[in-house]
Amino acid sequence: MTTFTERASAILPGGVNSPVRAWNGVGGDPVPLAKAKGSRVTDADGTEYVDLVGSWGPAILGHAHPTVVQAVQEAAADGLSFGATTTREVELAEEIRARYAPAERVRLVSTGTEATMTAIRLARGATGRDVIVKFAGCYHGHSDSLLVAAGSGLATSGVPDSAGVTKGTAVDTIVLPYGDEEALTDAFAEHGQSIAAVITEAAPCNMGVIAPPRGFNRLISHLCTAEGAVMILDEVLTGFRAGPSGYWGVERDEDLAAGVEPWQPDLVTFGKVIGGGMPVAALGGRVEVMSQLAPLGAVYQAGTLSGNPVATAAGLATMRLLTEDVYARVSESADALAGGVSSILAEAGLGHAVGRAGTLFSFFLGLADAPVSFEDASGQDTAAYARLFHALHGAGVYLPPSAFEAWFVSQAHREEDLARVLDAVAVWAATEA
Ligand code: PLP
Repeated sequence: MTTFTERASAILPGGVNSPVRAWNGVGGDPVPLAKAKGSRVTDADGTEYVDLVGSWGPAILGHAHPTVVQAVQEAAADGLSFGATTTREVELAEEIRARYAPAERVRLVSTGTEATMTAIRLARGATGRDVIVKFAGCYHGHSDSLLVAAGSGLATSGVPDSAGVTKGTAVDTIVLPYGDEEALTDAFAEHGQSIAAVITEAAPCNMGVIAPPRGFNRLISHLCTAEGAVMILDEVLTGFRAGPSGYWGVERDEDLAAGVEPWQPDLVTFGKVIGGGMPVAALGGRVEVMSQLAPLGAVYQAGTLSGNPVATAAGLATMRLLTEDVYARVSESADALAGGVSSILAEAGLGHAVGRAGTLFSFFLGLADAPVSFEDASGQDTAAYARLFHALHGAGVYLPPSAFEAWFVSQAHREEDLARVLDAVAVWAATEA
């Protein structure tokens, strides 16, 4: 009999529509999922799992929140797509700005890739310069200039960049080790007048979760301002997930508590949470820069489905449900899992480090210290992670199928969900010890 993977692979390259879903990082055949509700996903065979993938970030409220589902149903009944501006798009953009002051103007798009790709074009158009600086292990989607030393699925499959990206594109991308202030300062000293933008994940989450060294984002902001370049802060994953104002908000609050003036990005990209599981992403930033986008300015960007009414309804309903209580809950669950798993591993004598940025976290098995760079993160024991993944899958827990991804919790995770995860980790740890 043909297995699902055989059938899928006979029509979809690799059996999937996005590489990390193929389980190349952990081995084995992925089981298709059929539905999701709250903290749980159910596969096509009817087995239910505690979900720690959360659709790779959007499901911060838990899956199929009734209010979000109702908003989608009502919007769908009013028409699936108009190709004209709607009130809801304006409301979603206003909701984003109200929570994230540097997003003075907002352009809605459909994917994180589009948001970062547009940010790069806008930075080049605004500065008249070509060179982009990015950091090894930071993933910003799959547009050509950003597929150089990217993390995420590329980290998992060990491909540092992609075939099909021209040498010319790669030449205009300078890749630096993450967190290396000296390398960044030197790059500006050498290429300052050619640098259009520095793009960075607000906190890297695609090489495992990495807490940015204190002052690193501020230094990027400072150098960009001093040299006339644009700082692009990629909050596609961290935005409205790491905290109520993304990871930028985490650092802003720390700065304010320390009596320091917060730093500001020039452009910022969002995705995932702002669509609540539907295809919505956005680019935001300073008025002067954003005003260079068409139709106001000379930098072209467009989208048939941008600001789609049904997708926007899901995003708006999600954002409006994101109260302080939700973040407190998500944060408590993150503490319980990050701390609980770490204690179990430590008691079993299994060396590991915990990466943590706001409510986001991941584990680096086999590392003594939390990594800062992709080089550090690459030293983790991915084979041990694959064993952990399969052990937990067998125990009804759906972990990210790669050691280089964050574990995502939602407000819907309850004590019994966390207990199932911790029990399964304890059983696995006993077999490994
Ligand atoms: N930027 C970051 C930080 C991401 O984590 C991702 C996706 O995981 C993207 C950009 C690309 O977003 P999308 O997959 O919606 O194109």
